[in-house]
Amino acid sequence: MITTLRQEGYDYVDSADLADVIIVNSCGFIESAKKESIDTVMAARDQYPGKKIILAGCLAERYGDALLDIMPEADGFFGNRDISRAGDAVRSALEGKREVVHPADFSACDGLERAVLLSRRGSAYLKITEGCDNRCTYCAIPLIRGALRSRPIASIAAEARELIAGGAFEVNLVGQDLGAYGTDFASSDGSTPGPCLLPELLAELSKISGRFWIRLLYIHPDHFPFAILDACAADPRILPYFDLPMQHASATVLRAMNRRGDAETYLALVARIRKRLPDAVIRTTFLVGFPGETEEDYLALRDFQDRAKLDWVGVFTYSREEDTPAFSMKAKRVPMKVARERKAGIESAQQAITSARLERFVGRRLPVIVEEAVEGEELFLCRAYLQAPEVDGLTVVHSGRTLSPGETLNCAVARVNGVDLEAAEDAGA
Ligand code: SF4
Repeated sequence: MITTLRQEGYDYVDSADLADVIIVNSCGFIESAKKESIDTVMAARDQYPGKKIILAGCLAERYGDALLDIMPEADGFFGNRDISRAGDAVRSALEGKREVVHPADFSACDGLERAVLLSRRGSAYLKITEGCDNRCTYCAIPLIRGALRSRPIASIAAEARELIAGGAFEVNLVGQDLGAYGTDFASSDGSTPGPCLLPELLAELSKISGRFWIRLLYIHPDHFPFAILDACAADPRILPYFDLPMQHASATVLRAMNRRGDAETYLALVARIRKRLPDAVIRTTFLVGFPGETEEDYLALRDFQDRAKLDWVGVFTYSREEDTPAFSMKAKRVPMKVARERKAGIESAQQAITSARLERFVGRRLPVIVEEAVEGEELFLCRAYLQAPEVDGLTVVHSGRTLSPGETLNCAVARVNGVDLEAAEDAGA
C-alpha cells in the first residue's frame, strides 16, 4: 500500500503526528480482532481530531458498507482486494467524500517493490499466497480474502533477495496455508489442483547466498508437504520450525470443522517430523468451544496435548462469524464460560510441557536475533530459531556489549525460565 501511494506522489511518515492521513490496516477475522481494529480507529480519532482516518483491510472489506453508517470516526473505508487502488481511498478522504472504496477484483500486487519494512528490525514477513481454498467451517478468511492465489516462485525469490540485501536476517514466509502453495497453478499435465510447490520454492530460496533464516509459518496439518523436511535438512538456514494449526484432536469436532485429521494422524505427523529432524520445533493452535464440542472432545484434546508434547501451543475460543457454515450449525453451542475454562486448562497444562521441551536446549550454543534491550540492564530480549516473532517465548541474553535490534549473535543457553531461555553471549562467538 505504501509503495502504491508513493508512486502517486504521497510521502510515508512513520509517525501519525506528522501525517495528514492515517490508514488503519485492519483485521476482520474474529471478534477480538475486529474490536482491536475499531478501538485503534477510535483512539486515533481521539488523538488526532483534525486528521483524515481511513479504515483499510479486512474489516473494511467485510463490513465497510455497514461501518459507513455507524462509524463517523472514520473518514473513509478501503477494502483489501486491490491495494493498488489505495490512492483512490486517500483522495476521496482528502476531498471529504466519506465513502467505501471497494475494488471488486482481487490483485496480488505482484512485482511491487517493498518500500518500507514495517516489521521489527532484522525480521520481515514475506507473503507467498493470498486467500484459501480449505473452507474450514468456522473461518471467514476465504470470504474476506477469496480463493487461493500463489505468487510465482521467481517473484517471491526476488523479494526475499531484496529483503535479505536490505538487512533482514529472518524472512518469515506467510500465507493462509503454506502447504497449499502452488496448488492453484496447473500441474504439468494441465490438471488442477497442481502439486504443492513449497519444496521447489525452498530450493530456489536456498540458492541465495549469505546468512539468513527462512521461517515457515502456518502449514495445514492435513496436507503437510513432507519433502520440505529434506529442504530443511539440506540447508540449516531453512529453520526446522513448523507451525501446524491443528485446531483440535477430536475427530468429531475436526469433521464438523471440515478438517480431516484426528489425534492418531496428528501424532504420526509429529513423530515423522521429529524422526527426520530431531531438532524440529512444532507449534500449533487449538480452537475450543466449537459448536457441539463436548467435555469428552475436550478431554480427547487434552490427552492429545499430553501425548504430542508440542513445543508451543496457542489457544483460541470459538468466535461465531456471520456467513460461515458454522454460524448456523444446529449443534449445541458451548457457553463462553466453558470455552474459556477449556482454554485456561490447555494453557496451564502447556506451560509445563513447553518448559520441559525447552530443557533440551540448555548447554547448547544457539544463534539469536536481538529484539530489544532491557533498559538499565545488560540484558537483551532475543529469539532463537525455536522462537517465532510475537507468538513464542524469548531468549534473554546477558551481554556486556551494546546490542541493537536486528543484530545477530551466538549465545550459550544456561537455563529455562518459565517459557523463556536464559543465555549468555558466547565469548567464543
Ligand atoms: S486453512 Fe486457515 S485460512 Fe483456510 S479456511 Fe482453514 S482456518 Fe481459514
